[in-house]
Amino acid sequence: MAVAERTHTPDVITVDDDGHQATTFSLKRACNGCGQLLGDLDERDVDQHGNTTDVRAECGNCRPLVELETAGCRTWRLTRRSIGRIDDEIDKDGIYAKGYWETVDSKLIVTGLRIGTGPDRLVARFGDWIIRHPDGRWTVHTTGAEQGETEVRR
Ligand SMILES: [Zn+2]
Repeated sequence: MAVAERTHTPDVITVDDDGHQATTFSLKRACNGCGQLLGDLDERDVDQHGNTTDVRAECGNCRPLVELETAGCRTWRLTRRSIGRIDDEIDKDGIYAKGYWETVDSKLIVTGLRIGTGPDRLVARFGDWIIRHPDGRWTVHTTGAEQGETEVRR
């Protein structure tokens, strides 16, 4: 389904005769998957019940996830709040998963989830998406600077 292009109204800064500055701007819609700004807010952003709509298909980062969900995959965004729930889901498939530890600012902290063991293991960092495919494969979709997908087989 083709999605209409959004308008991108730039902010306008005006200064009156007394030197007071004012900024006029249009509200922007952020992707509900990753937070990237998509353009001006418009009627597509709220449904008939007043709920915010899913606009991830408009987002270059998140469109691949929407396509995977359409194909029957389950997806989870890895966050500090979701890590326990996702770990449980992976355990149900008989795959070992545990927190991934890294040194950040000379402190050893959990920065994501390690899925599987050995050289085929996957590492998902907070903010990445974890995908379970209908055939039982697990993959990680990175939406940050290093975009792409890696996978582990059972
Ligand atoms: Zn997005």
